[in-house]
Amino acid sequence: MKKSITPNQIKENNRNLIYQYIYRNHNVSQQNIAYDLHLSRPTVTTNLASLEEDGLITKNGQINTEYVGRKAAAYTIIPDYRVGIGVEILRKEVKIIAVNLYGEKILRSVYKIPYKNEDDYFQKVCQKILSFKDFIGLSDEQILGVGFAMQALISPDSKIVLYGKILECSGLSISAFTRYLPYPCAFIHDADSAAIAELWVSPNLDDAFYLSLSHHLGASLIIDRKLISGDHGHSSTIEHIQMEPNGKLCYCGKHGCIETLCSLHSLLDENETIEYFFQKVRNNKEAELKRWHTYLQHLAKAINLLHLIYDKTFILGGYLAPFLLENDLAFLYEEIKKLTPFPESSDFLQISKMPKHNITIGAALPYIQKFLNTR
Ligand SMILES: [Zn+2]
Repeated sequence: MKKSITPNQIKENNRNLIYQYIYRNHNVSQQNIAYDLHLSRPTVTTNLASLEEDGLITKNGQINTEYVGRKAAAYTIIPDYRVGIGVEILRKEVKIIAVNLYGEKILRSVYKIPYKNEDDYFQKVCQKILSFKDFIGLSDEQILGVGFAMQALISPDSKIVLYGKILECSGLSISAFTRYLPYPCAFIHDADSAAIAELWVSPNLDDAFYLSLSHHLGASLIIDRKLISGDHGHSSTIEHIQMEPNGKLCYCGKHGCIETLCSLHSLLDENETIEYFFQKVRNNKEAELKRWHTYLQHLAKAINLLHLIYDKTFILGGYLAPFLLENDLAFLYEEIKKLTPFPESSDFLQISKMPKHNITIGAALPYIQKFLNTR
């Protein structure tokens, strides 16, 4: 059978092309669109009118145009035409963020709600999400979905927590939340959401190993801009690779996992904040500096092991990222050189480009991405 495109498909395609063009180029004139997309002026005019009427784009002042030699109306997308919500579920608190179509923060709030695997907890969290949405003044229609970032492994369909030892929530179904929310909802492994946020701000990043150096350790393997979760959902769960058989007890029940050596939990003392710790380190206080170097030695050992398997860029992300300096990378390279069998170049470690709110934003981004892909 001969394949053909219907006039409606062409119309839809032109509309999407024009929307994507305005999205990418921010402030553009009719002439820019027609010229760059090779579309006729009447086609562009009709589509702009319909996109404007549907509330997706708006006129935003005037710009100079080289094609007609005078000022023309500038078009821009309406960034909060649709919004994604990201939620991070933690033991002691819940973080909620709303992001627009550019993945930019609209508002973020943190609520001190301790995690409980009980219905009244889920109801309470959902009430917070709804009042957060009302506070911003968003309609239900604007919400594309809510992504729940969990310190847990998630089923490939994003609906079930497969392994949630940190919060003791293995087996939790997304229906615990969806029964109180009128939006699509999905779970996402927290290290994956951080990696998604990293990809969002790094359009040229194709392959990488993302290390989420937070209170707990996590990682995500990126190949060809995709996160590889594996056949059983536990690819790159490097936190449970055993480094010291007689080491400290890990929450998984085994001893000496990388988690017990390279998480912030393992670095910081009870009740010590990361800010306080680094204040001491950067002022060369002996005890903290020693602890920091021991931590970096463990991290170098872990990175070396992983880099022997996956010879790509390693991104150091998570809560530790904003505190890392070039000096620390130099220290890591030196340690790695001592461990690795062949000459190792000093070009594969990178500090995260998006160290703030990456987990919550990354939990919202799949909804934004899906919306943009289907425009
Ligand atoms: Zn473990």
